[in-house]
Amino acid sequence: MLLNKALRAGLQSGLRLQSNSAAAVAATRPQKAPAGGFSFELTDQQKEFQQLAKKFAREEIIPVASAYDRSGEYPVPVIKKAWELGLMNAHIPEDCGGLGLGIFDSCLITEELAYGCTGVQTAIEANSLGQMPVIIAGNDAQKKKYLGRLTEEPLMCAYCVTEPGAGSDVAGIKMQAVRKGDEYVVNGQKMWITNGGRANWYFLLARTDADPKCPANKAFTGFIVEADAPGVQIGRKEMNMGQRCSDTRGITFEDVRIPKENVLIGEGAGFKIAMGAFDKTRPPVAAGATGLAQRALDEATGYALERKTFGKVIAEHQAVSFLLAEMAMKVELARMAWQRAAWEVDNGRRNTYYASIAKAFAGDIANQVASDAVQVFGGNGFNSEYPVEKLMRDAKIYQIYEGTAQIQRLIISREHLGRFRK
Ligand SMILES: Cc1cc2nc3c(=O)[nH]c(=O)nc-3n(C[C@H](O)[C@H](O)[C@H](O)COP(=O)(O)OP(=O)(O)OC[C@H]3O[C@@H](n4cnc5c(N)ncnc54)[C@H](O)[C@@H]3O)c2cc1C
Repeated sequence: MLLNKALRAGLQSGLRLQSNSAAAVAATRPQKAPAGGFSFELTDQQKEFQQLAKKFAREEIIPVASAYDRSGEYPVPVIKKAWELGLMNAHIPEDCGGLGLGIFDSCLITEELAYGCTGVQTAIEANSLGQMPVIIAGNDAQKKKYLGRLTEEPLMCAYCVTEPGAGSDVAGIKMQAVRKGDEYVVNGQKMWITNGGRANWYFLLARTDADPKCPANKAFTGFIVEADAPGVQIGRKEMNMGQRCSDTRGITFEDVRIPKENVLIGEGAGFKIAMGAFDKTRPPVAAGATGLAQRALDEATGYALERKTFGKVIAEHQAVSFLLAEMAMKVELARMAWQRAAWEVDNGRRNTYYASIAKAFAGDIANQVASDAVQVFGGNGFNSEYPVEKLMRDAKIYQIYEGTAQIQRLIISREHLGRFRK
């Protein structure tokens, strides 16, 4: 509601709001349709979103990121502030109280938040992942109720698909949902759920056709589940290698009753919804990885211009400056990759190929660039008093979640070969 009021006030007055929020930026002028011609120039409004997120990352995230990494505590005050500024949930439609931003614009925000700390960014981005099935497949009542709720209060949601026995092989999930009258009764376990212990509601994928021969695009159903429904048992917070302030948990569902009104589209539509969400959520994951890589490059460059060996700053040793050049090349190309993937989907085109290229490439280069940054820092790079060891730990997950590096290559090769076989 806060956002909506700011948005409305801005539109009514026709003036630029003084308030420092994404809603105020959105209210300054109508959203421009993407230009048809080729251009790298952001609109003034996009620059303002980017600046707002950049300022937030510098002032609110970076100063506390290391402490949250050490404690593993969930960054509640940072998330509340991001919510108040409209830096979360940016693509919730306007009629549900959101800003209704496209994927490109929200990626601009994501990249900047990730520059600050990808643990915080993942906690925020997991909301988008949880919401996306509802945005793409929810009916009006479901959207108003569950997306609207997230704009009224700083609440989280989560995307519950992976299980202990099945991650990449989504069609291998075992959770069962059985129709009983006007309800479905769900039993099974989910694993690695980001925001698992913080979510107000979940998008849940479960098998509704017990016949093992039933094809995946008919066997599974997508549900919205209240996190406080009886029978939902939330597991311990997992201590991960990186992005440690993000909340990752296993969740057990024991005889959880879900009203039939909470089925998305209809029985059997779940697999397509769960997979379809990735076309819109992989560009932001790639943008997050790019933000991390940019941070690693900036930290390494700053250090290389100060640290002296053999009578000169190490940036003047060609081996180091060429390493920085390689890192810069990768960051620039990863950014272009997410921009292309986001632009395609915002223009209503199928972007599966580009989304996987962006996710795979940005995930890989975040790992390479963070590791190279540690190299530039020498011994200091290996130490937690300096920022780059955290970046190296944080980077790894970008090659794993939302489809591993190998699964992206599987998708890219399938899409690529498919064009030739037509
Ligand atoms: C921190 C974190 C947060 C997460 N958040 C969420 C979340 O919010 N919601 C959610 O539902 N899930 C989430 N996940 C789960 C994540 O998406 C899965 O871990 C991921 O998809 C990989 O699945 P898996 O762990 O079962 O590995 P597996 O599928 O067992 O894969 C193991 C290895 O085999 C490779 N492999 C598997 N199949 C193939 C193949 N056909 N060809 C080539 N290589 C293959 C993989 O690339 C990988 O290297 C999260 C995971 C982590 C660690």
